[in-house]
Amino acid sequence: MPWIRQEDCVSCGECVERCPVDAIAIAEVSAAIDMASCIRCGLCHGICPTDAIRHDSERVQEWVEANVTRATDSMDLCERYLGSEAEKWKCLDRMINHFDREMKIAAMTVERLRELTKA
Ligand code: SF4
Ligand code: SF4
Repeated sequence: MPWIRQEDCVSCGECVERCPVDAIAIAEVSAAIDMASCIRCGLCHGICPTDAIRHDSERVQEWVEANVTRATDSMDLCERYLGSEAEKWKCLDRMINHFDREMKIAAMTVERLRELTKA
């Protein structure tokens, strides 16, 4: 999925013109993609003169860090609001279960999508 690195965008509008579903608009400081409208056609990749349109594989580490921060924040809040350190570790178990489930959903989705290529 594409994303736009704001600091590299010069708001030239090229991507806005090329997007077949009008998912890109020039916002205050740069172009921005409405991900709910984006159909993942990939047309916008490679047309940007400043290479501001990036692939999301570049953000994996950033998302991992965000997930870890979310988990540790929740652990702290569970301990504070539920009143004991034990709640912190229960919260950690729940977060691990949550991401484990997400991983299974992703793996099963990939499997199903690969099956489509054989159809
Ligand atoms: S083509 Fe690149 S520089 Fe031009 S508006 Fe789109 S993201 Fe910004
Ligand atoms: S991937 Fe396609 S639909 Fe999505 S923003 Fe780029 S050009 Fe538009």
